[in-house]
Amino acid sequence: VLDVQGVHKRFGGQHVLRGIDLTVRQHEAVVLIGASGSGKSTLLKTVNLLEQIDDGRIVLAGDDITDPRADVDAVRARIGVVFQHYNLFPHMTVLANVVLAMRKVFGAPRAEAERRGLELLARIGLGDKAGEYPDRLSGGQQQRVAIVRAIATNPELLLLDEITSALDPQLVGEVLDLVSELKAAGSTIVMATHEMSFARRVADRIVYLKDGVIIESGTPEQIFDHPQRPETREFLARVS
Ligand code: ATP
Ligand code: MG
Repeated sequence: VLDVQGVHKRFGGQHVLRGIDLTVRQHEAVVLIGASGSGKSTLLKTVNLLEQIDDGRIVLAGDDITDPRADVDAVRARIGVVFQHYNLFPHMTVLANVVLAMRKVFGAPRAEAERRGLELLARIGLGDKAGEYPDRLSGGQQQRVAIVRAIATNPELLLLDEITSALDPQLVGEVLDLVSELKAAGSTIVMATHEMSFARRVADRIVYLKDGVIIESGTPEQIFDHPQRPETREFLARVS
């Protein structure tokens, strides 16, 4: 589904992504791990065209989305994104947040969009919160709404960036459980996280990034139990 080829990104003099090659197949969950500043968020942002790349290309289901002629809005409509925080519009109800993209981007009729929105909210146990504003929900509830909003339009790819790192520990589980369900239901996911136990549980493949370079990638067993590279071993020793 996703093919990142030789991607470079610089911020001023700082070379943040240094030749990233990454292929993600349909229904695959790829988890990016690496120290703070290693380039995980930047990589996710280049895929969503929030950051322009300096070299290489990114192909989504056969389309070169980094081609300057690519329609940015059309590309973003194919990708669901959830970030660490500030995902929901505070002045809109929970339901209005969930149906927004369905209505605005895909032109779904209001009744149809709201029916699907309510169905999705019910599925995560928040049907009774549809009319509330986001600040009346817990952080974990807000993130689950944000995830449901991201999948409401059936995106080809879901990008999740540290979606639990702003949450109280007791709320992390409910959000990660939802990600596991989406993965089981066949979503294609690229996720950056510091939650190593979750990474092991949900990932088909772990990618270890250091200073903008993929040092090593493999199954959770390969990376966590039998890392081949000294950099990977050092990193895992530090975070575990
Ligand atoms: P974390 O685990 O803390 O989220 P990360 O792996 O996501 O870290 P990035 O956010 O991708 O790291 O940042 C990689 C490097 O790029 C950092 O040194 C950061 O300071 C720099 N950087 C990121 N965004 C910008 C920006 N918009 N302008 C300038 N520098 C940036
Ligand atoms: Mg980050």
